[in-house]
Amino acid sequence: MGEGVLTSGFARVDGALACEGVALERIAREVGTPTYVYSATMIRDRYSRLDSALSVLPHRIHYTLKANSNAGILRLLRELGAGVDIVSGGELYRALRAGFRGEDIVFGGVGKTERELREALEASVSLINVESEAEVRAIDRIAADVGTTARVGLRVNPEVTVDSSHRYIKTGERGAKFGIPFDEVLEVARVCASLTHVELVGLDMHIGSQLFRVDPYVDGVERLTGLLAAIRGEGIETLRYLDIGGGLGVSYSDEVSPDLGRFARALTSRVKATGLMLLMEPGRFIVGNAGMLLTRVLYRKHSGGRDFLVCDAGMTELIRPSHYDAYHRIESVQPNSGSITADVVGPICESGDFLALGREMDDAGAGDLLAVHDVGAYGYVMASNYNTRPRGAEVLVDGDRFAVVTVRERYEDLVHLETADPDWRTA
Ligand SMILES: *Cc1c(COP(=O)(O)O)cnc(C)c1O
Repeated sequence: MGEGVLTSGFARVDGALACEGVALERIAREVGTPTYVYSATMIRDRYSRLDSALSVLPHRIHYTLKANSNAGILRLLRELGAGVDIVSGGELYRALRAGFRGEDIVFGGVGKTERELREALEASVSLINVESEAEVRAIDRIAADVGTTARVGLRVNPEVTVDSSHRYIKTGERGAKFGIPFDEVLEVARVCASLTHVELVGLDMHIGSQLFRVDPYVDGVERLTGLLAAIRGEGIETLRYLDIGGGLGVSYSDEVSPDLGRFARALTSRVKATGLMLLMEPGRFIVGNAGMLLTRVLYRKHSGGRDFLVCDAGMTELIRPSHYDAYHRIESVQPNSGSITADVVGPICESGDFLALGREMDDAGAGDLLAVHDVGAYGYVMASNYNTRPRGAEVLVDGDRFAVVTVRERYEDLVHLETADPDWRTA
């Protein structure tokens, strides 16, 4: 967003690719492959830029855990003053473990279970964004049981049109499973006001991901502002937060991110007029460009007129190319001058197992290291154990230091929940 945001944690030093002050070759040698590598400096930079762009408004940035929930990254963001946005009991557990307090936590998600809601209320989260009247009533009952009052926000489906790159990451259009249909919000607000263990404190939207234009946010805020007036018109004066969700886009190839200054300017007067505190829930924007996947080429082969680089990472490490048709830049870690057109594929028994198809890229062969860029968001968190493959390691680089922040899984980790000798139960 704006030139400044292009700050990259990855650059060539004497021809070889490094993350900040650490050669990727060294990380591969000491930690092995496949490994995710993150730049701490870049994560701090993204957070600070967004924070300062919004500084004219009372605001708080709640980093969205589901983009990348690694404990090392959470610690770094907590130290910067970030709050978090969670979507499950597991993420609540991670957030509390990383030292976030209830007041730092916003809980969203379309299908929260009774257990998750109870855990969130016991942790005194600052805000639960609800998606239906039925959920509000469930929360009221659970809060009574826990002996507390739940602070809730209404996740509104603002029914705005977004131009996100893939239909799986649009969430704010009419007919989406997310949010309360716009014309039912006022009624749900009335229900909140009638319940004794619920306090309506926020209006919320999350319109999609990988968004590049400011207007859907502006449209959405205007829609929420209209609702706010209607809710206040009913004598409900408890609202404190205007939560505009996440979705800020990042560049994977030649996309131009929206300018943060322009984004903030477009929102400032509109948000100020509401008198509410602005909450944002960025995920991809904070970590997307700050991570890369280090993989080694196992074999190069030619088949049916195509060149294949068979790597030790595939859809189990990074499902984005196959699930979202995502483009991720791939380059050779070692200095390289030649070029090839190849399918970069993984070892998994599945034709959807690829990192890139028909890609013109650096020449590479067996034993070479490849860097798959911009995988800091929705990368490792979507990794699977399909084909009984241990998940890879995660490494955090900070200046000229690096640390393993997730160790590579071992085979034992993959089977320890199973039993070959079942404890049969009968009626
Ligand atoms: C996924 C999600 C986000 C983060 O989206 P990004 O595009 O990664 O910024 C924010 N809020 C909610 C409710 C989400 O589900």
